[in-house]
Amino acid sequence: MANKDQTDTARMEKIVSLCKRKGFIFQSAELYGGLNGCWDYGPLGAELKRNLKEVWWRKNVQEREDILGLDGSILTHQAVLTASGHVGGFSDPMCDCLLTKARLRADQIEPQSGVAYHYTGASHEESGWSVERPYSVLLNQPNQDENKARKTAKEFYAQFLKDKQISFKQLSLHGETTSEEENVTNYNPENGSLLTEPRDFELMFKTQMGASADENDPNATAYLRPETAQSIFVQYKNVIDSNRVKLPFGIAQIGKAFRNEINPRNFTFRSREFEQMEIEYFCKPEDGLALTDQWLENRLAFYDEIGLDPEKLHVLDVPDGERAHYSQKTYDIEYDFPFGQQELEGVAYRGDYDLGKHQKHSGKPLEYFDESTKERFIPHVVEPSAGCDRTVLALICEAFDEEDLTKQDGKQDIRTVMRFKPAIAPIKVAVLPLLKNKPELVEKAKEVRNLLQPYMNVFYDEAAAIGRRYRRQDEIGTPFCVAIDFETLGEEDPSLKDTVTIRHRDSMKQERVSIKDLLTWLLTRIR
Ligand code: ATP
Repeated sequence: MANKDQTDTARMEKIVSLCKRKGFIFQSAELYGGLNGCWDYGPLGAELKRNLKEVWWRKNVQEREDILGLDGSILTHQAVLTASGHVGGFSDPMCDCLLTKARLRADQIEPQSGVAYHYTGASHEESGWSVERPYSVLLNQPNQDENKARKTAKEFYAQFLKDKQISFKQLSLHGETTSEEENVTNYNPENGSLLTEPRDFELMFKTQMGASADENDPNATAYLRPETAQSIFVQYKNVIDSNRVKLPFGIAQIGKAFRNEINPRNFTFRSREFEQMEIEYFCKPEDGLALTDQWLENRLAFYDEIGLDPEKLHVLDVPDGERAHYSQKTYDIEYDFPFGQQELEGVAYRGDYDLGKHQKHSGKPLEYFDESTKERFIPHVVEPSAGCDRTVLALICEAFDEEDLTKQDGKQDIRTVMRFKPAIAPIKVAVLPLLKNKPELVEKAKEVRNLLQPYMNVFYDEAAAIGRRYRRQDEIGTPFCVAIDFETLGEEDPSLKDTVTIRHRDSMKQERVSIKDLLTWLLTRIR
């Protein structure tokens, strides 16, 4: 995608619909109208997410000598988040639309230019009603009808009418003036209405702990963690002391984080409850910058390995002024989602900021003692912080494909295929007896299913014609289908007895493999 803002709404709608229809992702509490910003993973989504986390954990923890795992608590001591700067500091600027009351994140409003229409108030002649308060509307298209601004302004003033029988159309506007505006961000891009001034909106979910918790007792206050990183910093000393690790080393964690996002949107992309996959990689100060670059390469290789097209991944070297003040280097890894190029992961060099803060606030030493140089210092840290849900969404968007096919009767058809890499696919293999009313086929198919089930996620299906069953598996991304047919029974050609047909999802090609080789055949292809 050449343009950062290029979007494909129709594609996204199809993806969201498939996710619901096939059981990847559901709106949380849909039965009761939905809980905004929260999502439930259905049977296939749960498998997909588990597979992603399993690959991430294996690559970053189990296959590395220098990284250890942690599983910290979600409920977080307020002192931890005070030290980290989150309490009182973790907020987004928000403003409200004066007309619709929609809440917008002030820093995400695209600058607009156009003609602003300003008013001082409005009145209703017949009833004698009037209101005096300034209001403005921006028309951001060339040659837009000025009556559009007047209609919006009347709708705004009509909110103050006590007599709801009076239509906004009957109002007269006061003191209309206009001005040319360039690159302004104080109007709602949706309707041109003036917005309120930005104010800070606290993003953390706060809760009270304990049976006698009093709302005003600061000691009873806890937070749902807004990131997994802090428990890593707070446990860093315990990990060192219990594991005798040497710099450089990392601590990795996968877990839930919570942010009361002003504007949850783009399906699961910006949620209020989400999962992170984070590593804090501790190192000597002189190695920090080089390791940040190494981690960037490592993370890009990971995305390639799980099946994201490298062409759709972009690295943003976050410029001075946009990085956190303590970070000398931050890379954002962005992906071409159908709703635009957006952040998947941040790789940030955070210096000694976090451990330094916790040492200061806790009053406990968090220095590292280097045996070889006999020096004591606070390690620096490089943080690759990925969003699990965002990566799942990227995998779904990447996998979704609609292939034009010509059927045997010459008619055109569209095949929906989720082209997941086998290691990521929710179901690895479908076992399908050719006919369900032929007991020998069914019995053999169940034998094959039982053979494979301890090693991988197998789906057994005997309903409908085999072609339809193949298509159903294509739509959920199952890379291989195993058909048990008459050849398997050796009825026509005894040399084919105990062989099965393997049908490949992507090419739709078929080959025969003997049942005794089947497990190895599959195991070498699904990791
Ligand atoms: P954004 O700018 O998109 O709000 P961020 O820069 O605040 O993200 P970080 O605090 O760096 O995000 O969090 C690390 C990662 O956690 C992000 O790269 C993203 O993948 C994930 N993440 C953050 N906020 C959300 C969210 N609301 N929903 C889903 N994933 C999120």
